[in-house]
Amino acid sequence: MISSFIVTTVGLFAIIAARYFIFAGFFHWLLWVGDGQSSWARKLARRKPSIKIIRHERKWSLVASGIYAVAGAIVIERWKSGGTQLYTDLQLADLWYIPLSMIVCLFLHDTWFYWSHRAMHHPKLFEATHRTHHISHDPTPWAAFSFSPWESLSGAVLLPAIAVIVPLHVGAALSLLTIMTFASVLNHVGWEVFPDKWIRGLFGRHLITATHHNVHHHDYDVNFGLYFRFWDKVMATDAMETRYPHLSDTDTDTAA
Ligand SMILES: [Zn+2]
Ligand SMILES: [Zn+2]
Repeated sequence: MISSFIVTTVGLFAIIAARYFIFAGFFHWLLWVGDGQSSWARKLARRKPSIKIIRHERKWSLVASGIYAVAGAIVIERWKSGGTQLYTDLQLADLWYIPLSMIVCLFLHDTWFYWSHRAMHHPKLFEATHRTHHISHDPTPWAAFSFSPWESLSGAVLLPAIAVIVPLHVGAALSLLTIMTFASVLNHVGWEVFPDKWIRGLFGRHLITATHHNVHHHDYDVNFGLYFRFWDKVMATDAMETRYPHLSDTDTDTAA
């Protein structure tokens, strides 16, 4: 039992870390290697990532990957004993439920993230829990999981909780984990990869992208969300429009 738990944890760690290195490495190569210019993305970071910051981000992202792996192994062990709502049967008539369940999970994650994130910005908690992440003043794709162990733990506990609460197809669960990594890398990439028109459009204006999250790395009192701007708007902590222009020293004209 214990040996199977350890094997599962090690296997999950390898998968989570590999996925992190693939996504972060790809966007780092795409946007930061070379002359620092791009015809299709808008630069948000004010300077090129330093190797010192990247090493910090990679180190804590690997620690976080280990903590997420333990949480994932707990879910798998509970699943084996029938203690979760994960399922593998797929009926054609129930296909509509797959996207619905994924949106519900993303909203639950976003809600948990928003409120735990705000709590970690309390002066009494910030140093111990959240300062590690904010060392990246101009974040890079490698900052995706750059969290202190306490912050990683606060995110990791949600996985077993969701697996118990929400009936979720295994394929949907795996897709969600990939979306989480992808979104976190994109939020920290230091460039806005989505067109300005789309970000401000009917759909895009409700979602969080690098432009929104980059503001938070400069101004700690706004933009706490992860995927959706819902909680930021409800709690009046959304500052996309008011603080958007100062994000880039060079692209102010196009950003305004
Ligand atoms: Zn961040
Ligand atoms: Zn923060």
